[in-house]
Amino acid sequence: MADNPFYDALKQLTRAAAVTPFSDDLLIRLRSPEREIRVSIPVVMDDGRTRIFTGYRVQHSSLRGPYKGGIRYHERADLDEVRALAFWMTLKTAVAGVPFGGGKGGVTVDPKKLSKTELERLSRGWVQFFYEDIGPRRDIPAPDVNTTPEIMDWMIDEYHKLTGDDSGAAFTGKSVERGGSLGRNAATGMGGYFVFEALQKACGIPGSARAVIQGMGNVGLHAAEILSAQGHTVIAMSDSKTGLLNEGGLDPAAVGAYKREHGGLRGFPSAKEISNAELLELPCDVLFPAALENQITAENAPRVRAAMILELANGPTTPEADDILFARGIPVVPDILANSGGVIASYFEWEQNLARKSWSEEEVYQKLKSIVQTESKNILARAQLLKTDLRRAAFIVALERLEKALRAPAKLPTRAR
Ligand code: NAD
Repeated sequence: MADNPFYDALKQLTRAAAVTPFSDDLLIRLRSPEREIRVSIPVVMDDGRTRIFTGYRVQHSSLRGPYKGGIRYHERADLDEVRALAFWMTLKTAVAGVPFGGGKGGVTVDPKKLSKTELERLSRGWVQFFYEDIGPRRDIPAPDVNTTPEIMDWMIDEYHKLTGDDSGAAFTGKSVERGGSLGRNAATGMGGYFVFEALQKACGIPGSARAVIQGMGNVGLHAAEILSAQGHTVIAMSDSKTGLLNEGGLDPAAVGAYKREHGGLRGFPSAKEISNAELLELPCDVLFPAALENQITAENAPRVRAAMILELANGPTTPEADDILFARGIPVVPDILANSGGVIASYFEWEQNLARKSWSEEEVYQKLKSIVQTESKNILARAQLLKTDLRRAAFIVALERLEKALRAPAKLPTRAR
């Protein structure tokens, strides 16, 4: 079961609780998601035939508020993966201090094999199955891997049709035209940058850093563009098929434009093609995994030559790799802090929708920066105090907040409220 991300997530919990004890009551609750729903979504394909797609929603914990978390479309998405992602959302919303619990959704599908109309029917179908289980005060989905503002727009439209709720607050990560927040689309990358800025010096990284980024979707590409704009050098980037290396620095905007135009990175001028495995082992100041789980494992961790790792993806480093990297003095900034910018901006979007207001991008980024940099310093201080790694420290900060919520009176699961 080495690559079951939910087992890794539970291991992380056990390891943090071994440093600072928490109540059995809390730990036992966090080991079992409150609700798990699996559905078969029928989609009429363009050729008139019906296909069934398996859809999921895992509502992990509502101790601190309504469930919150994205929906992933991926051919390998399954219940264990969605469960792990929902678990990390519970911890992440606690680290960020936003009044949400944790949830996650998914569909087992390779969206690249669907036409746009099929994708829309699938997305509306997901909502037709789940609309009674979600909502602005119950569970608020958002984008994740292979889901976009356009997909959130279809989903909120379907939700509106089925429930009459016109607040727009049942989904975040919508397009700005459909009630999305300014700044939300780039917020995970921007938040990751703010975290990097807050921890860079303490991790011994020079002012102008050499960065490597795995994955160039919503998160990785925005992060690359922001880093480059801030004067850092992005020496390598990749998508699922191809990596690019240019020791003199890549222009992330040009790499993104090339991929949009050619559908891939093959043939990009003035860069050497490398594999994703090679990319992870390049010497650099900071490595940003921004793709999927289980990328840095006990197998390749001894060969990682980054001075610091900042997890923009969820679950890219296994617990065994954590130990190897810690022993080698390579700090790993954990996902539940490093990519929390997405859920924080989602919280801002939800607040704006409920208040029927719209904030400026500057206001969104200013508030985002203040939250993530405060929490980054808090977690660093805790790691130093406890002489432990940043992941255990972040878990401990989150678990303290969850323990406090558990001790507060009248805690019923969201659905029963
Ligand atoms: P996306 O679908 O926009 O992009 C995913 C990228 O990863 C693509 O460039 C794809 O080609 C690449 N990729 C896929 N498999 C790969 C592999 N094996 N090796 C290298 N690259 C690979 O997804 P995203 O929204 O950018 O999400 C990326 C990660 O960030 C995920 O772990 C996600 O859970 C996490 N995350 C996303 C958000 C958000 O707001 N979208 C928030 C927090 C965390």
